Amino acid sequence: MKIGIPKGLLYYKYYPFIETFLKELGAEIIISNDTNKTILNDGVKYCVDEACLPIKVFHGHVASIKDKCDLIIVPRIMCIRDKEYICPKFCGLPEMIKYSIQDMPRITELPLYMNSKKGLYEWVKKLGLMITGNLHAIDMAYMKAQNAQKNFKCGIKDSEYKINIALLGHPYNVYDKYTNMNVVEKIHKFGMGIITEEFVSNEAIDKEVDKLFKRPFWSFARNSYGAAAYLALNKKVDGLVYISSFACGIDSVVIELIKDTVKDFPFLVLKIDEQTGEAGFNTRIEAFIDMLERRKKIESHVSAHG
Ligand code: SF4
Repeated sequence: MKIGIPKGLLYYKYYPFIETFLKELGAEIIISNDTNKTILNDGVKYCVDEACLPIKVFHGHVASIKDKCDLIIVPRIMCIRDKEYICPKFCGLPEMIKYSIQDMPRITELPLYMNSKKGLYEWVKKLGLMITGNLHAIDMAYMKAQNAQKNFKCGIKDSEYKINIALLGHPYNVYDKYTNMNVVEKIHKFGMGIITEEFVSNEAIDKEVDKLFKRPFWSFARNSYGAAAYLALNKKVDGLVYISSFACGIDSVVIELIKDTVKDFPFLVLKIDEQTGEAGFNTRIEAFIDMLERRKKIESHVSAHG
């Protein structure tokens, strides 16, 4: 059985799990290429106009492999953490794909509750039964997939730079080099280090989130806000850079919450969509980094001379 895995959305966080599980069950895996111009253009062509860039890009990934697969993994993620929700676009993703792209092979439509062991196992078992009737093999593959995921550390934490920034946003915006125009490499080229939310502990995130008048109930909002507040208020970084998808409601709320908390701490928001031009993007990063360097010099001067 040929099973397709689109390299979009939460693929960047959970690929060790799904790839190991399917391989262990003997499926032939077809993973789409890294995002490129064709994938982006196809995504824009197939997806509804109002959707955000990551959802469009996911459509492009699906379109790029649909004719080579018997089944495509389109996770209907419902929940990642207890008492929190994920963006509704994830919950309706299978329908969006089915009704937007013609001549699709079979896709997974099962709801996935990652917040509970039982919920995750149910999803895995149903997926496994599409490949084999052997429940023992499914259990073994599930165990190996869990180990592969446990041993995988997603995120960036540099230690060799004098000036460091927190790179924030949904994982697919931070790790998809094509849609974010290689922002990680650009920041490094300017001599700045990066830390991402994965290197801020859950306790530190919770502590910041609990100070809010109302706790955000979106998992993405909690992570980005908590990490930004912790890193800025404790001066663990010199600035914050937030990669935001145009038309993302969650981003709009989180950005305002961060601004309100960190006040005049340096904060740059980079909006991305299919129209974003690289020249303007580069200029904004350059100007922000110039400002951080000047600020750092003034701070060192003040601390040296009182
Ligand atoms: S959270 Fe925002 S960027 Fe992510 S899928 Fe939802 S609308 Fe798009």
